[in-house]
Amino acid sequence: MMWEGLKPLTIHPNGYLLCPHCGLGMLHQDLVDVYRRNNEDDAHGIHIVTDGPSVTIDSDAEDGNPSNRRDGMELWFECEFCTEEAVMLVIHQHKGSEFIGWRHASI
Ligand SMILES: [Zn+2]
Repeated sequence: MMWEGLKPLTIHPNGYLLCPHCGLGMLHQDLVDVYRRNNEDDAHGIHIVTDGPSVTIDSDAEDGNPSNRRDGMELWFECEFCTEEAVMLVIHQHKGSEFIGWRHASI
């Protein structure tokens, strides 16, 4: 079962992640967004964002969380080769399963 809206990852045989736009392997990690709920369906918990040298922490585990009821994570990447917009790698739990894939309007 593939979660609606997520494009499968492609990983080079040597273990590195390939760009979902151009297929080349020069992605650079950017912003990281982590959501950890206190309990299932709880809107509160820990929300951590790292963006360059800055880190912000708040208790809103609902707004922007890729999981409707549980925990989730978003990692943004920029590609060195293509001029597409940054892409977001999403990891989130849904009904006991853990999903991972790219989410972006153009992929
Ligand atoms: Zn690319």
